[in-house]
Amino acid sequence: LSNKKFHPEPMEFSVGSTKIGPNNITIMSGPCAVETEEQLLKIAHAVKKSGATILRGGAYKPRTSPYSFQGLEVEGLKYMQTAAKETGLATICEVTSAHAVESAEQYVSMLQVGARNMQNFELLKEVGRTGMPVLLKRGLSATIDEWLNAAEYIMAAGNSKVALCERGIRTFETATRNTLDLSAVCVLKEKTHLPVIVDPSHATGVRAYVEPLAKAAIACGADGLMIEVHNDPAHALSDGPQSLNFEQFDSVMNNIKPYIELS
Ligand code: PEP
Ligand code: MN
Repeated sequence: LSNKKFHPEPMEFSVGSTKIGPNNITIMSGPCAVETEEQLLKIAHAVKKSGATILRGGAYKPRTSPYSFQGLEVEGLKYMQTAAKETGLATICEVTSAHAVESAEQYVSMLQVGARNMQNFELLKEVGRTGMPVLLKRGLSATIDEWLNAAEYIMAAGNSKVALCERGIRTFETATRNTLDLSAVCVLKEKTHLPVIVDPSHATGVRAYVEPLAKAAIACGADGLMIEVHNDPAHALSDGPQSLNFEQFDSVMNNIKPYIELS
């Protein structure tokens, strides 16, 4: 189902009021975690103004430490819905369990399966069942074939609306949080008709590297970007060091425009 051999045309699908596919570069931006309603609304208005069409925000956070902020869960999903109503933006939230899927499908326009759950096959079947657009992130140490098989799980459950997100993989390098595998974009473009999104924020963990890698991702043929944005990165409850403030995000959006026009 995900094999380009049998589906030569690039796939396009709607997410709320926007589209993901070959005819535009879709920008998904927002905080790593939804923290308060006020924070989320501020960020939603700012990212919309700079040109994002999908608001991202985690309500279920898969944190390495159980003592780190775990997310607001349903309360956070409700704030995402409020932000969507106020701004007209589509929304995406990560789901970490079948229970989270049941809640999230009522409040957001797209579901995200995070790197840590790429091979959680029961979760993949569950998001497949919803028929909602899904962003499937690459597992921390997953090969491209394993990743495509994970997409196949969602599609085999009856849901063809899957976009793949390259977010960096584990290598021996420690200067960046992960190593962004941009060649994966080129490989995927040959193997599958599914849209490909690149997340330079989680790939690097370093705010300064977001812009150059966003440009490179577009040059490689990515169909969109996921970029973390926070009103006050220094005090963010998660992923502050990689988050852009409003001014920085606006500048990145302006500076990537020529690359988008060339794509
Ligand atoms: C996220 O998008 O906030 C996230 C946790 O990403 P990943 O699954 O790529 O680590
Ligand atoms: Mn994050």
